[in-house]
Amino acid sequence: MRLVLIGPPGSGKGTQAELLVARLGLMSIGTGAILRDAIAGRTDIGQAVGPLLERGAYAPDAIVNDIVAERLRDRPESFVLDGYPRTYAQAISLDDLLWQQLRKLDAVFHLTISDYDVVRRITDRRSCANPNCGGGTPPKRAMICDACGLPLTVRDDDTEATARRRLLAFHKNTDRLLEHYRDAGVLIEVPAMEPVETIYANIAKALRR
Ligand SMILES: [Zn+2]
Repeated sequence: MRLVLIGPPGSGKGTQAELLVARLGLMSIGTGAILRDAIAGRTDIGQAVGPLLERGAYAPDAIVNDIVAERLRDRPESFVLDGYPRTYAQAISLDDLLWQQLRKLDAVFHLTISDYDVVRRITDRRSCANPNCGGGTPPKRAMICDACGLPLTVRDDDTEATARRRLLAFHKNTDRLLEHYRDAGVLIEVPAMEPVETIYANIAKALRR
């Protein structure tokens, strides 16, 4: 099964990708996580894209195309792409790549959510200071982890200004991308303001068809 998840930041597509990996055994290709690792590891790619991501911009097409091509080189049977493709040019690059392998995408899920809800979700996002705890959003008491009582932190790129910039970039790039997949007959819209398990059930139901 070859899937793509498309949604603005805060739409929960990372969580859905994790569920698809855990329950259906798909290989996850999350370009956001790959880029964050590159930045933390101070690799060449990390140093090139770090300042861009900090401003709320996206990594250049050529860099993410290469990252994905590398991950797909061994022709994994099943995978879910999260955060890629983000632009029409990236979608064409992915089409070409799969075409060379004589295959194509099975489904592209668009997690739909209003801009207002995106900004609220992102600025509400918290994580526990203890990396092994996993506690976080939404706490009962401000900035204190419900699970362990330690302070909560806000990710550097989770401010409202950054959220709005990322949303603008998302809309600018996504309209043509969605049209491309709608024309190809693989686009499936899934409302993202539902509980996590409801969203997953809707995705799983669509996959059974
Ligand atoms: Zn905690």
